[in-house]
Amino acid sequence: MKRNVKGKVIKYCPKCNRENISRARYCGACGYSLQMVEAVYLPLFYKPVKRAAFGGAVLAAVSLLLFGGVLAYSLFNGLSSVRASARSFSDVPLDHPIYAFSPKLIASGALSPRKNDSLSPFEAVSPSEWNFSLDAASKSLGCQIPSGAYCDASSKELSVDDMNKKLKILGFSGEPLPTSARIAAFYALERTLMK
Ligand SMILES: [Zn+2]
Repeated sequence: MKRNVKGKVIKYCPKCNRENISRARYCGACGYSLQMVEAVYLPLFYKPVKRAAFGGAVLAAVSLLLFGGVLAYSLFNGLSSVRASARSFSDVPLDHPIYAFSPKLIASGALSPRKNDSLSPFEAVSPSEWNFSLDAASKSLGCQIPSGAYCDASSKELSVDDMNKKLKILGFSGEPLPTSARIAAFYALERTLMK
């Protein structure tokens, strides 16, 4: 019997971990914006011929095993990058997407934690946090950051529009981000500064 390994491209919701189709802009379960979430390839066991009920059960079992393997593999990878980065955050679990989104930013110390080592992913990024990340990345990479990408020392907040302008200066080519939440900022900074 001929069998093929095929898969599907999906987006995991960072908030509730629900699987969404790759084109989803918002999570079907909780409504969280998926516009900054990258789609991932999820291999599935797939048999193209018509199958009997028993074959279906075997297929389901094999798919489940394979899926478990994929999960374990990504978790293992996630954990090893956390260990390598020598930083974890007190308010998110070790399999939180931030560790996959921003591994180099974390490893280089350019992602500033908040009080009690928290990530506070959904708080707006502050101008000083933004500048801190640019400074740390520029030191770690030995590169010059355009001055227009920094926030004024006097500014109290960084609006989402301003953040998108600064990301553009840094060379971010993705769609404008819908929010200036720290997780969005760090996601984009990883892709502009650490590529
Ligand atoms: Zn969700």
